[in-house]
Amino acid sequence: MIARVTLEIAVRKEFDYSVPADLADRIEVGTRVKIPFGPRLVMGVVTAVVETSPHTNLRSIASVVGISGMLTPRVLDLARWMAGYYCCPVEVALKSVLPDSVRKEGAKWRERLHVLVLPVMGEMPKLTARQREVWNILEEWRELPLQELLALAETTLETVRRLEDKGLVRVAPKVDERDPYAREEILPSQALKMNPEQDHALAAIQGAMDRMAAKPARERSAEKPAAMGDEMVPPLLLHGVTGSGKTEVYLQAIAVALERGLGAIVLVPEISLTPQTVERFKARFSSGPKGTLVAVLHSHLSAGERHDEWHKIRQGRARIVIGARSAVFAPVDRLGLIVVDEEHEHSYKQEEAPRYHARDVAVVRGARERAVVVLGSATPSVESYHNAKRGKYSLLEMPSRATDQKLPLVRVVDLRVDSRRGEKGTPGVFSEPLKDGIHRRLEKGEQTILFLNRRGYSSSLQCPKCGYVAGCPNCSVSLTYHRALQRLMCHICGHSAAAPVRCPQEGCGDGAIRYTGLGTERVEETLLKLFPKARVARMDRDTLKKKEDYRRILTEFRTGRIDILVGTQMIAKGLHFPNVTLVGVLYADLSLHVPDFRAGERTFQLLTQVSGRAGRGDVEGEVFVQSFTPFHPAIQFARRHDYAGFFEAEVEFREQLKYPPFSRIALLTLKGRNEDKVKLSAEHVRKQLDLRVGSWPGLVLAGPAPAPLVKAETFYRYQIMIRCRAMSRMSRALAELEATLKLPEDVHLVIDIDPVNLV
Ligand code: ADP
Ligand code: ZN
Repeated sequence: MIARVTLEIAVRKEFDYSVPADLADRIEVGTRVKIPFGPRLVMGVVTAVVETSPHTNLRSIASVVGISGMLTPRVLDLARWMAGYYCCPVEVALKSVLPDSVRKEGAKWRERLHVLVLPVMGEMPKLTARQREVWNILEEWRELPLQELLALAETTLETVRRLEDKGLVRVAPKVDERDPYAREEILPSQALKMNPEQDHALAAIQGAMDRMAAKPARERSAEKPAAMGDEMVPPLLLHGVTGSGKTEVYLQAIAVALERGLGAIVLVPEISLTPQTVERFKARFSSGPKGTLVAVLHSHLSAGERHDEWHKIRQGRARIVIGARSAVFAPVDRLGLIVVDEEHEHSYKQEEAPRYHARDVAVVRGARERAVVVLGSATPSVESYHNAKRGKYSLLEMPSRATDQKLPLVRVVDLRVDSRRGEKGTPGVFSEPLKDGIHRRLEKGEQTILFLNRRGYSSSLQCPKCGYVAGCPNCSVSLTYHRALQRLMCHICGHSAAAPVRCPQEGCGDGAIRYTGLGTERVEETLLKLFPKARVARMDRDTLKKKEDYRRILTEFRTGRIDILVGTQMIAKGLHFPNVTLVGVLYADLSLHVPDFRAGERTFQLLTQVSGRAGRGDVEGEVFVQSFTPFHPAIQFARRHDYAGFFEAEVEFREQLKYPPFSRIALLTLKGRNEDKVKLSAEHVRKQLDLRVGSWPGLVLAGPAPAPLVKAETFYRYQIMIRCRAMSRMSRALAELEATLKLPEDVHLVIDIDPVNLV
């Protein structure tokens, strides 16, 4: 027997190894093994078991690592697809489908010594007073972890051992599952009676499940590997405004899957994976007749917790998985449903190799495993909505809020008018209408959320005399002033320096240096000046130092101990506070000025999400959007809650300029510390591209050009953008190009397929 093995060190090749007889029954596709490679032993994964090999003198597998079959053939298959599509070595793809905590050689369940009471045979042996005390406690508990018993009984191991000698108890190691939510008390919830729109959506999902189940087995196995974008897939797109009850639809769809013996994966952006969200799923499924474990996978769990959650899924005990991006690889057997909530979120894209997009992987996985995929969003990505419009997905619309609340009234405030009134051309932080709005909320005891997507005090330090701007030595951005720390900081690389009192430019030294631009820290300060009695809290990366801070601030806000919450995008999404009746967006233009063709889309999404925080209770909500470009379509359509209108305008622009969804993009970035070398290398890559793919129909090659962020973390960056009709063929061509490309040692090429970040 011969095993074909992919090594975890990146060599982009597979090697054949002979299987020693004593390991034969433990080796199968997906088994992780240790193998000799050169003088070392390295880790690898068995990708095939074959009878013969073209090579002779095969070396033998040294050992099997962990339990066998950690990687199911299906997940392995998905990893291979990912490697091909996203142009990365199979080894790299394999690493991301198994969490580190599971993959590590020593990873295992936590075992602790437990003391177990044995049935008393015959007469009760004589005990000392000390032993009797311990025995009394044990009789009540029947079983306890040794450490807990020792603490509880204030006794020593010695005494427990005496009881063991007398045959009363047994001390033995036992697996102790780590449950990250063990301390939460979760009350079970019942399915809600749904409104007609929800019923319609659920029926459509159920119908799709029926069609999947009816697909004959023959057709299933013959299914050719799906190539993204080319195949027809039966997933669905659920477009429902915030608060329309999408989550309730997901919950009931999962219940349907469970009844059919199928499992489900729910993907949620990391930022929305709050205890609140997890609780909603646990409350519905963790108790009662359907009682199944809900496993949670995300980066805030400890390695041990992640290990245990993963194995609960692998063993089939947890049939429902909620998690961030990488949960799309969860080893759920007989998968019936994948939900991708907030499918437009860019955090689904991994920004390091493999640069996969979890939503797209979900669609591919669904097609391969005949699972229904539901993409949900209040503001679907232009790509997904386009796919739905042309019939690739079925479109389900839920245009009104589940509880009959109205969507908030959105007013746009023209900052140009306001700044003419303001002092010396610099606009005030708060326009008059917004100030007035906050004032009224404070009087009525209602709450306000203020949103600004920039932390710190001010975004740059400028000398009005010589024009000096404090920039980062490592990156091509200006430094942000953080007043509380009295420091200038770079938000790209973290560089920080003491804030100067005079202009640091040689020969200038003027004392009139100015801080311009607005950050959340300054918003908070201004608020306290304007409304000295208001209770204000700020939520951004600077104020969240500890894991609990996030929760603590939100609890204080929920219980009314805070009147005004100021924050960055971490408060834009998912939060549900019925007493919030006013939302202010301080500077809507911030996301419009990003040099990215999706800037308009992102602004529309952000405004819609933030607005959705207002008026979730009995009182209608009001939203003020402050902007210098009040007539920009992204702002105007968001004001009218008009997604369809925005989409129509946006696709027109995308089609003209051949941007997605009318093309697919591959972004090549060359990085290095020597700018000339980077530039020359980029020109070389462009020449190679012209030779290899230059004649393809419908292809647009742009660049090389300096990236918008030309220098980041001391690396210069040059880009080439490829726009093409279909990606699979391009991915193959790029992998070939990369394999033969000769670049200077200190210049690197990064290939990003379907990038979401062009900066
Ligand atoms: P979404 O996920 O679309 O933002 P949610 O599922 O969170 O919306 O629903 C918003 C609110 O409406 C929640 O408080 C939820 O309990 C409530 N809700 C949802 N569906 C119904 C229903 N059919 N009847 C009554 N309340 C509902
Ligand atoms: Zn920097």
